[in-house]
Amino acid sequence: MAKQNRQTVSYLTRRFREVGLNPNARHGQNFLIDLNLIELLAKSAKLTPDDVVLEIGTGTGSLTALLAADAARVITVEIDGHLYQMAREELEQFDNVTMLRQDALKNKNRFDARLLESVNHWMKEVDGGVFKLAANLPYNVATPIISNLLRCEIIPTTMTVTIQKELADRILAKPNSKDYGALSVWIQSLCDVELIRVMPPSVFWPRPKVESAILQIEYRPDKHAQIPDTEFFHQFVRSMFFHRRKFLRSVATAAFKNQLTKPEVDQVLSEMNLGPDARTEQLTVEKIQQMCELFRAQVGQSG
Ligand code: SAH
Repeated sequence: MAKQNRQTVSYLTRRFREVGLNPNARHGQNFLIDLNLIELLAKSAKLTPDDVVLEIGTGTGSLTALLAADAARVITVEIDGHLYQMAREELEQFDNVTMLRQDALKNKNRFDARLLESVNHWMKEVDGGVFKLAANLPYNVATPIISNLLRCEIIPTTMTVTIQKELADRILAKPNSKDYGALSVWIQSLCDVELIRVMPPSVFWPRPKVESAILQIEYRPDKHAQIPDTEFFHQFVRSMFFHRRKFLRSVATAAFKNQLTKPEVDQVLSEMNLGPDARTEQLTVEKIQQMCELFRAQVGQSG
């Protein structure tokens, strides 16, 4: 294991001491120290030599090295300059790793343009390239990263990620549960989701306060094709779950207040066979999609 980066607590504490660093909680710096789990994450991504893999949060580069061994290209993004330097040394031996030192996000709703340019560039460069995400995501930005990737021009065929268990629960949630919300509907509408492993805080250094999970999100273009207007649907789902305590009727009336009259809203609800006391959280993903299309048609007519 000469040059291989063995990410253990002693390795990390030594490296951090050498450069006079402390892990920065603001940037969600929790490093995976269980080597079996780093391997499980990499293995679950099922990489092939055609893959162009995006990793957000290089850290010290331990996962990056595993990904680079199997993929055509790894694009890895790190916000912290010190970690970027540390990882550069660790990853020197790989000629298929593109390292970006920057914030992956421009804002909550958008990726940084340089990151997207790099993905586009390597997808053109790699013949038959398949885009994937594999990362131990910074927890403070895990939701916008996953959600925004589903709105990009090139959507990853799979996202294999370590996230907070609580976020995994929300992504996987079914109707009539407290976790079921806009994120569950949005992701399940476009993807299949599989929980690979629940992990205790002790597999990270420093320990986070909460449990984590490895999740595999597989993009399903055939599901996506059922949604004629993705942006409208995205907005619709967000607004339908905006006031969880309210009845669907008043939520929808508020959401379309400049576009639809109350009778027009009621007409959609009656076509859906929904009574005045229906709530969005009771509806399956399919029902919400169906309702979205009825509202879209109404808005089209009255506009
Ligand atoms: N992949 C490593 C590190 C995970 S910790 C491992 O498994 O051990 C999350 C990493 O994401 C940290 O290195 C942190 O500095 C970085 N990070 C946090 N916010 C970021 C952002 N907005 N853009 C890019 N990197 C970010």
